[in-house]
Amino acid sequence: MTDLTCDELDALLAEFLDGTITDDQRDAALAHLATCDACTIVVTEMRGVGALFRQHGRLRLPDAARARIRAQLEAAEQDPTS
Ligand SMILES: [Zn+2]
Repeated sequence: MTDLTCDELDALLAEFLDGTITDDQRDAALAHLATCDACTIVVTEMRGVGALFRQHGRLRLPDAARARIRAQLEAAEQDPTS
């Protein structure tokens, strides 16, 4: 498996980030990433999301964090100078 397209790399990303990808697939993915800035950016961002996912076991923000962010946004709207 060589010369992946961006779509083919995208299809491999979940396994790639999970480490469940085969060696051949990983080599092909890395070869594609070496030549494709767009996919490199996607992988970098997904790695960050993947780390969060492993820490928290889910992708959505905890309710407490959502409430805190919402309160900060509302406070900023009411008093933009603070
Ligand atoms: Zn690509």
